[in-house]
Amino acid sequence: MKYNRALCWGRCLGVLLAASWLLAAGPAWAAKLSIVATTPTLASLARSVAGGKAAVISLASGREDPHYLQALPSYLVRARKADLWIKSGMDLEIGWEGPVLDGSRNPAIRPGRLGYLDVSAGVMKLEVPKGKISREMGDVHPAGNPHWWLDPLNGRIAAGSIAKRLVELDPGNARVYMSNLAGFRLELDRKMFGPVLLETIKGARLWALLLRGELAAELKKRNLSGQVGGWYGAMAPFRGEAIVTYHKSWVYFCERFGLRVIAELEPKPGVPPSGSHLQKVIRIAKKQGVKLILMENFYSPKAARLVADQIGAKVVQTTNSVGGDAGAVDYIALMDLIVDRVSRALR
Ligand SMILES: [Zn+2]
Repeated sequence: MKYNRALCWGRCLGVLLAASWLLAAGPAWAAKLSIVATTPTLASLARSVAGGKAAVISLASGREDPHYLQALPSYLVRARKADLWIKSGMDLEIGWEGPVLDGSRNPAIRPGRLGYLDVSAGVMKLEVPKGKISREMGDVHPAGNPHWWLDPLNGRIAAGSIAKRLVELDPGNARVYMSNLAGFRLELDRKMFGPVLLETIKGARLWALLLRGELAAELKKRNLSGQVGGWYGAMAPFRGEAIVTYHKSWVYFCERFGLRVIAELEPKPGVPPSGSHLQKVIRIAKKQGVKLILMENFYSPKAARLVADQIGAKVVQTTNSVGGDAGAVDYIALMDLIVDRVSRALR
């Protein structure tokens, strides 16, 4: 009996010691990193790279215009305990990031700290203004067009920036992050160029050839033209096609897939369509044989339908964000959905 009691105490003490050690070990054991992303698209990229090693939440839902989010009190609460703040950048969050970071009172995610990541720093940028910017130009972003995530190459680059930062924040799991990144990139490359082509040429090489404008020639030379699939293959028949968009948010998508945006329904970024501007768009679009008006689902389709009726074009309203549509469950699904809708409309 005595012996048993002693044994029991010994065991209890052991359990207590183990528990207190685990508690003291803190983040290394408990811990999942806490990541707060400003948009669901970034959150999706972060989840792909972090896997089970982080809890990732997004502030925006993906159903709203990301330019005009408000700093909600719930945002401050979510940011308070974050280890990493991931933003899209190029002024997309300019109206609300400051109040959220200030209100969160979380020094770990201030600009300049390891817990603050502006993903746009690494991406390929378009429409970076060269001259002076004036108010008359509308809602122009001095850092360039902020809708970079609609180019899958930028999605690929952004995932890399997130992985690099996770490795810095949590070196113990570096291998996991790098292996998740490789898996994500392989999946994205297969989606972009088709699985068959990926068996012959590595994804990084395909992207490099595409960027240099040498992909088509190289594939022809190696008798591989018939093996192209994926988003690139689906969009290839429409290279050079002229389209109209509502907002200047599709330039990255169009640049990557060879579509020409010849006009926007907004006279200036952020300024709603006016009658006189739409008449101008109708004239230009008729001349260029525009078959598609592409726009986000959070804008009213009225102006687009009016123009489409006049020129005999289709209107495609789609989300530009993960979470903005039931089908856009993650980054790859988002690009799948956009390519599918655009290519079907142009067919
Ligand atoms: Zn914009």
